[in-house]
Amino acid sequence: MNIHEYQAKAILRDFGVPVSLGVAVTDAAVAEAAAANLPGPVYVVKAQIHAGGRGKGTFKEAEAGPAGGVRIARSPQEAAAEAAKMLGKTLVTVQTGAAGKQVNQLYIEDGSAIAKEFYLALLVDRESGEIAFVVSTEGGMSIEEVAHNTPEKIVSFSVDPATGIMPHHGRAIAAALNLSGNAVKQAVDLAEKLFTAFTAKDMALLEINPLILDNTGALKCLDAKIGFDDNALFRHPDIAALRDVSEEDPKETEAAKHDLSYVALDGTIGCMVNGAGLAMATMDIIKLYGAEPANFLDVGGGATTEKVTAAFKIITADPHVQGILVNIFGGIMKCDVIAEGVIAAVKEVGLEVPLVVRLEGTNVELGKAIIAESGLNVIAADDLDDAAQKIVAAVKKA
Ligand code: ADP
Ligand code: MG
Repeated sequence: MNIHEYQAKAILRDFGVPVSLGVAVTDAAVAEAAAANLPGPVYVVKAQIHAGGRGKGTFKEAEAGPAGGVRIARSPQEAAAEAAKMLGKTLVTVQTGAAGKQVNQLYIEDGSAIAKEFYLALLVDRESGEIAFVVSTEGGMSIEEVAHNTPEKIVSFSVDPATGIMPHHGRAIAAALNLSGNAVKQAVDLAEKLFTAFTAKDMALLEINPLILDNTGALKCLDAKIGFDDNALFRHPDIAALRDVSEEDPKETEAAKHDLSYVALDGTIGCMVNGAGLAMATMDIIKLYGAEPANFLDVGGGATTEKVTAAFKIITADPHVQGILVNIFGGIMKCDVIAEGVIAAVKEVGLEVPLVVRLEGTNVELGKAIIAESGLNVIAADDLDDAAQKIVAAVKKA
């Protein structure tokens, strides 16, 4: 799960990380007063969307003006004027795709006088299985470009979980960023606080771009992006409450509500499967027979009729779906429950595309009988191979 910059900075502030003062607003009418409460004399108005590259982004609407999603204002009045131009408009950045994202919230932040911009990130390094720091002197710009063109400018090292964060990690960051004097001490302190926040909140990614040295010699996090490990969210109700569903794929939000593991993909065959391994195998065999899956969907072991109905609705709501393959191995999950769920869903939402159902395992005969007697136009399949061939053929014919 991702959160907004202003939310990320509030979390970092709680851990003692240096961030600027700022106020999140959803209404331009309160922007002037919000800015007037900040030290000033420069204010920055920042679009809050779950995508980077805001500074270099462009708005779709001409009224928003030519400046990007991060704007400098010289007075509270100017901050309010920029806020009015940006709110409700659609910002397109390198990370939003062509459709862009509607700006519903702004962060009005105190302006910093920047001497230097750096890049710093913490992430989980899959290879070492450890939390790693990634730092670069080339901050502010796209780190992907730096990695591609000048990879030697990116320094990374991981933290041994047996020792945890140590002062030498902070000194390694300072060395990589060519810091000296008091800034080295600040880097040691910063590294410790960021690492503590990362582990305490089960983050998957913490990216500060830019980390700056301001004209008074202070290190400060000027941007912050945090992604959390979804599997650990149950331990952090305070973090889960920060979810902004308007930033997520509505199909995935709906699936999460019903505790379904769902990932939208680009293909045309909707899949409803129980078990992640079987779901992967189902996607593979669809590809083997020349089509592409429209989603990964694992309804889980103990799905109820309601859950199956919800899953079926999510699949049929996807306009790219031209055929559906239900592939269930009834273990804990009973085939008759799946059959009831599919029928209930079809009755509710209708069925406009071919549907192939393959059932195996507990109560399979009962499940097949329920489907056969339903009078629905369902293509029955004997095994996974047969099912995949039948759905691919049905979609190609349609
Ligand atoms: P994004 O990465 O989405 O473009 P940033 O928060 O990194 O957004 O802002 C883009 C640039 O705007 C930064 O690299 C920095 O130069 C400038 N900037 C952002 N916040 C401030 C601030 N509070 N004071 C001064 N400059 C800022
Ligand atoms: Mg940034």
